[in-house]
Amino acid sequence: MIKRCPQHGFFRGEHCECGSSGQLLLDETKTEQLGRLVAGGLRHFPVDLGLEMDSRGWVDLAKLGLVVQNRHHWASKELVIALVESDSKQRYEILNDKVRARYGHSVNVELDHPENMLPMLYYGASEEEADRILEIGLKSASQKYVHLSTTPEKAWHVATFRTGNPRVIKADAALARAAGVKMMTVNDDIVISETIPARFLCILAASDIPKPEKH
Ligand SMILES: [Zn+2]
Repeated sequence: MIKRCPQHGFFRGEHCECGSSGQLLLDETKTEQLGRLVAGGLRHFPVDLGLEMDSRGWVDLAKLGLVVQNRHHWASKELVIALVESDSKQRYEILNDKVRARYGHSVNVELDHPENMLPMLYYGASEEEADRILEIGLKSASQKYVHLSTTPEKAWHVATFRTGNPRVIKADAALARAAGVKMMTVNDDIVISETIPARFLCILAASDIPKPEKH
């Protein structure tokens, strides 16, 4: 659910970090419905929703507000803003009355996030995926960019949602960058990249992966 704290703005869950229970804007179900629609419009099928997207992935915020209101009578541009600003994964960003997804596109966009400067990046995979990636390189089947993690723990954690026995692949990002592979920082957790050739990849031994703390 999305709520508003009078002092700290939009937040997800029951309480703001300050302890305030805030004002309820959207319940769980509607937050999911709005989230799916916004993800569809900004990542996957803008044209189907009548949205114009520029080459960097930006869409007019007011127009998106109309689109969501058309689909759900309770939705609005203000709730899109609340959805964006309360999202801890920073999926979206708003700038100058435009909004875009920061990552996760299946439509063709040329993103312009800051260049990644981390020397090593990590990718969590199943055993079978890992074997294949080490042969053919790291690329996304359905998206333009592949999403890597900034630490081995995060990569391992991501992979646990897909497999019971994750492998973590290490990418030598410094070497790949020197060879012209474009990698961009999305947030503290995620770096997106064009295809990374297999020669920059190796598999981490299980003992080299610090297990994340349980939350
Ligand atoms: Zn607060």
